[in-house]
Amino acid sequence: MQNDLDIPQNHIGGNFKWDIPPKCTCGMFRDAIEKEHFVFVSDRLHKGWNGFYMHPVCANGESVRADGISITHCPFCGDEIKAKKFYPTNE
Ligand SMILES: [Zn+2]
Repeated sequence: MQNDLDIPQNHIGGNFKWDIPPKCTCGMFRDAIEKEHFVFVSDRLHKGWNGFYMHPVCANGESVRADGISITHCPFCGDEIKAKKFYPTNE
């Protein structure tokens, strides 16, 4: 059985480039986006930085919340994350 969480393609690590990549002490936050794929990057900006969210699912596989749950800090080391996607049309 497949679930469709309706996560936009360009929110998923590997489908966009960084202008300023996410950095934290442990270095795992970037992997959470690009390798583990459990943190997604929205196009909504907060003070010029891209927003991050996780996407929990219910027991039946449907999204708990359509817009996911925003996170602002690395869940592993607690550092605040500030990163920017690269937008080719943004010059
Ligand atoms: Zn970290």
